[in-house]
Amino acid sequence: MAKNETKHTVVVVGGGAAGITVAALLRKARPQLAITLVEPSDDHFYQPAWTLVGGGAYSAADTRRPMAGLIPKRVEWIKARVEGFEPANNTLKLNTGKTLGYDYLVVAPGLQLDWKKIDGLEGALGKNGMTSNYRFDLAPYTWACLRQFRGGKALFTQPPMPIKCAGAPQKILYLAADHFRRKAIKAELSFFTPGPSMFGVAFYAKALDEVVKSYGIAPCFDHNLVAVDGPARKATFEVTSNNDKKQVTLSFDLLHVVPPQSAPECIKSSPLADTSGWMSVDKHSLQHMTFENVFGLGDCTTTPNSKTAAAVRAQAPVAVSNLLRLITGKGEPARYDGYASCPLTTSRGKVMLAEFGYEGVVLPSFPLDARVPRRSYWWLKKYYLPYLYWEQMLQGNLGPDWHRQRQFDDAVPAFFP
Ligand code: FAD
Repeated sequence: MAKNETKHTVVVVGGGAAGITVAALLRKARPQLAITLVEPSDDHFYQPAWTLVGGGAYSAADTRRPMAGLIPKRVEWIKARVEGFEPANNTLKLNTGKTLGYDYLVVAPGLQLDWKKIDGLEGALGKNGMTSNYRFDLAPYTWACLRQFRGGKALFTQPPMPIKCAGAPQKILYLAADHFRRKAIKAELSFFTPGPSMFGVAFYAKALDEVVKSYGIAPCFDHNLVAVDGPARKATFEVTSNNDKKQVTLSFDLLHVVPPQSAPECIKSSPLADTSGWMSVDKHSLQHMTFENVFGLGDCTTTPNSKTAAAVRAQAPVAVSNLLRLITGKGEPARYDGYASCPLTTSRGKVMLAEFGYEGVVLPSFPLDARVPRRSYWWLKKYYLPYLYWEQMLQGNLGPDWHRQRQFDDAVPAFFP
């Protein structure tokens, strides 16, 4: 072993939703197992509530907790950033210059927000009515923008997929539309997406078309935000039609931006990635496609599910079970079905609880038509899910899982968002 190298049994990379849950589940299942967690941040964030912060329905402070209080007891914390993986040698490199050797590796450093990919964006946010719920410090500014808005053009953008929580760009759109409706403020609301529809799962997309119509929102498909001019309040989009691309510049009074997203640099530049840059794992077992002692979960992988904390909730027991099976040689293979959930805040007080799996299979937890926005789901989103996250999931208590395939009529039921 080299001078600067230490050897570990199980190394977990990332102390976010996935890393902490995996560490907690492993600690419970095998109290004697040596587990090391590599995480550079002092704080852990409950990102799903940032939508509510932007909509004025949640305190930003309540979405942050000290990392130290969440790392399970007897899990060694190395407070550092992984800079590179060498899976052929069972080692990884830290920004401190150290090398860690491991027997088993779980990779969960989330994803990277590529603010720089939009010209003029970095440094322009947080003023001139330009905001984003994708940053802890900016989500409260979103609410300030909504409160200060006196009418005019409000633009909401979504970048190319994949992104974390694909529904989040439009959740804040509806919260804004509802706020303006309640305050009788005249707003021209537009939603810009490079995609061809409001949502990747047709079952929910049709219902969301109704929400868009009811607010009088203009959906602008095939539009990708490429540049902004903050002081001039101008946004430039690349518009694709019939393989032709042209640029359109629009003025705005309020602009909510969701940045392009990609795999973290440490994965992109390593043998763990496929050509897309994401970490290449089997979509059911979450085991690496080449290195069998390596597992990956959460936002960083190639699995074609919606990147959400709800997906992490379903993936973590699978990754842990398959890892323990590899360690002990006992147990049955566990399988992830692609489950993810996206609670779409269609107004302040109602949520459409979109739940689905691979290939867009509709997998609701409750035997109710999942396309109908409900007040009960708002309470679930605002109170129960944060509790479930902090007090159960991150402690390694996953409880029962109720999602299953259920059949519904094709016709979208009538509802008020
Ligand atoms: P994260 O939770 O982001 O954690 C990654 C961790 O890895 C961080 O602690 C980071 O510091 C650490 N890390 C990063 N790089 C390195 C490195 N090089 N070395 C070591 N550690 C590193 N999900 C839902 O289920 N429902 C929702 O309603 C929802 N809404 C959302 C709304 C918004 C605005 C946002 C931003 C996200 C939302 N999500 C939602 C998505 C959800 O938060 C993520 O999918 C989830 O947090 C992914 O977990 P993760 O552990 O993969 O990544």
